[in-house]
Amino acid sequence: MTTGAIFLDRDGVLIEDRADYVKSWDEVHIFPHTFAAMRKLATAGLPIIMITNQSAVGRGIITSAFVEEIHRRLVEEIEANGGRVDAVYYCPHHPQEECDCRKPQPGMLKQAARELGLELSASYLVGDAVTDIEAAQAVGVQGFLVRTGRGEAQSRLLALRPDLGAAVTADLDAAADCILTDSGYLLLPESKIRSV
Ligand SMILES: [Mg+2]
Ligand SMILES: [Zn+2]
Repeated sequence: MTTGAIFLDRDGVLIEDRADYVKSWDEVHIFPHTFAAMRKLATAGLPIIMITNQSAVGRGIITSAFVEEIHRRLVEEIEANGGRVDAVYYCPHHPQEECDCRKPQPGMLKQAARELGLELSASYLVGDAVTDIEAAQAVGVQGFLVRTGRGEAQSRLLALRPDLGAAVTADLDAAADCILTDSGYLLLPESKIRSV
């Protein structure tokens, strides 16, 4: 039996976004609401998967081993606070490599679906950028744009993209509430849900 999943962007959703990239564990600032939101999401009965662009690897600023160590510690913190992350996918490529995994490309979503047997049309993605929503919509995943991280500015760009159907929520905790009470959020061709 296949199941939907909850995909989460990292920077700007779980932790503060840094324009100059996370280069040490000290630069990982977990949002105050993150643990409560993750506890909530853990009750949804769906796999929780982090998907994140980490071009700092391709730019030569950090190594893959460093990114994986950050993810290990972040997941450990979330688990220590009652949450869960079942898998992590990241794109290490420089934008100029034009890979198919860097969001807005949906490569990581497709890979996760393939490897974990997920039904993307029954899945959710929470991100703080229009590129997250584009990746989600490309494969029929319901997107939520949070106003944390880059989200406040990105929500104004999203408003200029009537082709993208996404819900805008204050933060991950509010998105978690929507996902847990979902009865009609799954994207239908014409559906648009906005709480602007
Ligand atoms: Mg982000
Ligand atoms: Zn990539």
